[in-house]
Amino acid sequence: MQNRRVALVTGASRGIGKAIAIELAKNNADIAVNYYKDEKEAAGVVEEIKKLGVDSIAVKADVSKFEECSSMMDAVKKKFGYLDILVNNAGAISDRTLKNMDKGQWDLVVRTNLDGIFNVTKNALPLIRENGRIINISSIVGISGNHGQTNYAASKAGVIGFTKSLARELGKQKVTVNAIAPGFIETYMTKGMPFIRKKIIMAMVPLGRPGMPEDVANLVVFLASDKAGYITGDVIRVDGGLNF
Ligand code: NAP
Repeated sequence: MQNRRVALVTGASRGIGKAIAIELAKNNADIAVNYYKDEKEAAGVVEEIKKLGVDSIAVKADVSKFEECSSMMDAVKKKFGYLDILVNNAGAISDRTLKNMDKGQWDLVVRTNLDGIFNVTKNALPLIRENGRIINISSIVGISGNHGQTNYAASKAGVIGFTKSLARELGKQKVTVNAIAPGFIETYMTKGMPFIRKKIIMAMVPLGRPGMPEDVANLVVFLASDKAGYITGDVIRVDGGLNF
């Protein structure tokens, strides 16, 4: 168990972000729970976290908007004063082949997943203390690409480039910056996927089961810990061995 730290998890009202927020709280961190639309779910996550004996607030911000991220950091600073752990998890999909994709679909995904990482991290930097941790949730799609996901793949590959570059910039402050590339994880995001496509993907997973949000959260807890102090600029897959 480490000394109490402060974490901000974006997109923590459900899915992977919620699991990350709760697992970090179980490991003695106060948590700022960022959400975009679902105030009720975010409030529920805050309550769940408080029952674990740590402090928590919900902070609304659309990560694709720089000014909203700036206000979010003001709220975090007012409540906690500083940050030790930043988890850039908020993300969106809007799948279509490039032929059928409209500009709005491109913009939604790239502005949320890639501009969002800039908007949040840039505003968070002044609050991050020495030995801090920045953990960015990319995707195996950012490594391998995927049919119907040019927008998503481009944004998630961008997250990897951002991670590796920032790791070089922040090494002197002993702040580590890493990315996690999940495979198929059961959440709202993957719920709408056609059954047949899920079946095809599952056939390619050696471990024979879909990933759970906690599978990703467990790695975040490790990367956020003192034990991971010599790991930076890396991209770690959590995909059950799924190989596109
Ligand atoms: P999810 O269940 O759809 O949850 C998405 C979360 O992001 C929600 O909390 C949502 O908040 C928030 N969000 C969306 N747009 C936002 C915005 N503009 N500003 C702030 N928050 C926003 O998705 P998930 O599966 O947990 O995915 C979490 C991350 O993992 C994403 O980056 C995703 O790309 C990545 N990932 C997921 C999988 C998978 O198989 N599920 C695989 C690889 C990578 P509200 O509900 O409040 O709007």
